[in-house]
Amino acid sequence: MAVGYVITEPCIGTKDKSCVDVCPVDCIHGAETDPQLYIDPEVCIDCGACVSACPVEAIYADSDVPETWKHYTAINADYFK
Ligand code: SF4
Ligand code: SF4
Repeated sequence: MAVGYVITEPCIGTKDKSCVDVCPVDCIHGAETDPQLYIDPEVCIDCGACVSACPVEAIYADSDVPETWKHYTAINADYFK
């Protein structure tokens, strides 16, 4: 399984899609009714471009996700199942 990047809690309520614009493989998705956006771990190429694009520091490499938000790794992956 790829390492992947993960969108965490700060996206909720912000969701401005800045990350979508910079992703070279278009792997960040979410419907209008979803609370946040999600990164497809199967498509993400770990380029890191989305990290600095996010105004609220919601995006982390899977290995760097803060302890309190670890469950967001599964939340992102499960969105695409
Ligand atoms: S790390 Fe790169 S490929 Fe993965 S979601 Fe962010 S911008 Fe897209
Ligand atoms: S840039 Fe950050 S806050 Fe905006 S949609 Fe992406 S993850 Fe959410």
